[in-house]
Amino acid sequence: MSKPPPAKRCPVCRKPAVPPHEPFCSAVCRDRDLIAWLDERYVVPGRPASDEGEDS
Ligand SMILES: [Zn+2]
Repeated sequence: MSKPPPAKRCPVCRKPAVPPHEPFCSAVCRDRDLIAWLDERYVVPGRPASDEGEDS
């Protein structure tokens, strides 16, 4: 018996993933995930506000 592989789900909206955008369902969700990922990197606690480049 051939069992279909488990459908991948878009991690953003939980819809089934669409091949060209896997593992997302669309370019929109892919972008949203990317933006969220970048946001996390920008809001790293303890990040110095501005150092360097001000002493010359
Ligand atoms: Zn989605």
